[in-house]
Amino acid sequence: MFNLDALLRDNIRRLVPYSSARDEFRGQAAVFLDANENSFGSPVNANYHRYPDPLQSALKEKLSRIKGVPVQNMFLGNGSDEAIDILFRAFCEPGKDNVILLPPTYGMYEVSATINDVEVRKAVLRPDFQLDPDAIAELIDERTKLLFVCSPNNPTGNSIEREDIEMVLNNFEGLVVIDEAYINFARQKTFIAELQEYPNLVILQTLSKAWGLAGLRLGMAFASEGIIEVFNKVKPPYNVSSSTQQLALEALENVEQVNEWIRRIVGQREELRKLLPQFSFVKKIFPSDANFLLVQVEDARRLYGHLVQHGIVVRDRSKIILCEGCLRITVGTEEENRKLLEALAVF
Ligand code: PMP
Repeated sequence: MFNLDALLRDNIRRLVPYSSARDEFRGQAAVFLDANENSFGSPVNANYHRYPDPLQSALKEKLSRIKGVPVQNMFLGNGSDEAIDILFRAFCEPGKDNVILLPPTYGMYEVSATINDVEVRKAVLRPDFQLDPDAIAELIDERTKLLFVCSPNNPTGNSIEREDIEMVLNNFEGLVVIDEAYINFARQKTFIAELQEYPNLVILQTLSKAWGLAGLRLGMAFASEGIIEVFNKVKPPYNVSSSTQQLALEALENVEQVNEWIRRIVGQREELRKLLPQFSFVKKIFPSDANFLLVQVEDARRLYGHLVQHGIVVRDRSKIILCEGCLRITVGTEEENRKLLEALAVF
């Protein structure tokens, strides 16, 4: 049986969270002398001399309508990288607990684990980049707290089979973190509708990819109310700046524009998939549900250098397990992709 309280670190269970001035006051007031701000103003904008809303209520209300997730099931952070770090800090006892990762996958899970001195156990994906349930089952013990499934996966690009993820959700008593950073480009649908069903489910999404706001730093975690309360206890009080909250609110008005970009990115992805095989050094293009393609080539290192010579930078993943000889290429604009193809033509 899933038991959230038992998963928590003892110190977090006992933690009395920081209570900010803006947490304690509710109601109307005209004079704010509670937070040691500069009451005279800010050099850039009238509002920035005030601390931001610690729980980002207005932004969450809006996201709630777009995502169909109640506000109390939502955490917002300084990128999804912040949510990843909080999961380790809240649930994993340094030097004692462990987590399961499914390489090749997004690098920050392991970096966050190592920063927090948490053991990483690896169940390498099968050669088709799907998960290996037996390998996972063998690694789980009573100190396994988190299991990260990135779907669509970075750097491979594929979605993980839904039934396999459901099997993990049903059998693992720790938290299953599904990282859906690339979900807007996928045929696979989000697990958000399954939040009620699985008390051990945490879904990560971000405004950094399809929404075109990587520089803004806004990540989302969706989970049970109890898990979100833990996030809110552990996070820094003002983890999302006023400017981020304000700009994200404005950006979320542009759903149509974002949908149009998604259509174009997916269209360009398929165009690249069609055109890349003309080059004899392209050995394999892996299926992608994301805004990038993993491409296996002859002499990846040299091709990477060649592209840099032409002012084009891609990601060399050739040294990563199961990605031998692979470059990860983000789908660019029509113009950028044309430049990429031109540079490839003279390799
Ligand atoms: N998850 C995955 C799978 C990613 O690829 C990335 C960014 N490369 C992130 C999370 C981090 O996103 P954010 O910008 O929200 O921190």
